[in-house]
Amino acid sequence: MNVDTAYVRPADMEDAISIKASLRAAGMYGCGLTAAQLGWGVKGPEQTIIDISGLDFGPDVCLADSGSMVLAANAPLERLRLNPLISGQMPTFADFLGYVGSTAMRNQASLGGNLLWGAGDLEVLFAVVDAKLRFAGNGRAQSLGQITSDRSDDLLVSIIVPALQESRIFVEKLGHRQAFSPARVVVAGCVGRQSVRLAVRLAGNPVVLVETSWPMNGPLDDALFTGDTDIHLKTVAHNLLRGHLAQLAQQDMA
Ligand SMILES: Cc1cc2nc3c(=O)[nH]c(=O)nc-3n(C[C@H](O)[C@H](O)[C@H](O)COP(=O)(O)OP(=O)(O)OC[C@H]3O[C@@H](n4cnc5c(N)ncnc54)[C@H](O)[C@@H]3O)c2cc1C
Repeated sequence: MNVDTAYVRPADMEDAISIKASLRAAGMYGCGLTAAQLGWGVKGPEQTIIDISGLDFGPDVCLADSGSMVLAANAPLERLRLNPLISGQMPTFADFLGYVGSTAMRNQASLGGNLLWGAGDLEVLFAVVDAKLRFAGNGRAQSLGQITSDRSDDLLVSIIVPALQESRIFVEKLGHRQAFSPARVVVAGCVGRQSVRLAVRLAGNPVVLVETSWPMNGPLDDALFTGDTDIHLKTVAHNLLRGHLAQLAQQDMA
């Protein structure tokens, strides 16, 4: 296929993959383009945009027999926020989406774009629930932790959230403002019967994820608060996590 434009709308997933293969580094997948455009200068994108927003990636959300939730990578965030399956299965996610950008932005922005952009708030939440990302290339499903350091050029098709059963989940972000600004700190936790997974992103740093036993006896793992950022943000992240964990421990004792 001859692609000589800076913007293409592939006919289907196969077409998208073949355009990307022919363009290689000169092409990039884009969905809502709300994050990608943040890096463009006045001249616009340097790569040809392969727009995947209109492709059929299946339903926005469905439940697999195993109880896991399968989400389409190109589903717009606002549609996910309003989806009854999500509010039923993972209400924390639905609530938190209300704090990701504005309604107008969420109508355009996709889940896949948020998870692959490198600074999306949802990455922290999806890390603690051990979500898996399924790419078109060989259908492999990777943990978020595996792709944060080595982002793929492959087409992300779906995101699988395992059955959360009785796990309790929390997530909180802090920024200069509630929306329209990149978060400075995002913390999340997923507390099971005997273990807890905690994740933190400090501004400009990758997500750090740790797993430990529940109930927790010792201090929070120092690894959560490493990164190239000031001590105040680390203290904020520490206090946010401590607050959530204390509340959950109290509920367990009640
Ligand atoms: C005003 C404003 C406010 C914002 N507020 C927030 C906020 O509060 N919280 C937050 O987390 N983010 C925020 N963002 C950032 C961004 O809009 C979101 O993270 C959004 O979800 C990105 O989705 P998108 O579809 O627009 O991604 P795009 O911009 O289309 O893509 C982002 C990256 O992901 C890649 N990509 C996208 N989809 C795929 C796919 N299926 N397969 C492979 N690669 C893919 C692209 O190549 C690109 O590198 C904001 C942005 C703006 C402009």
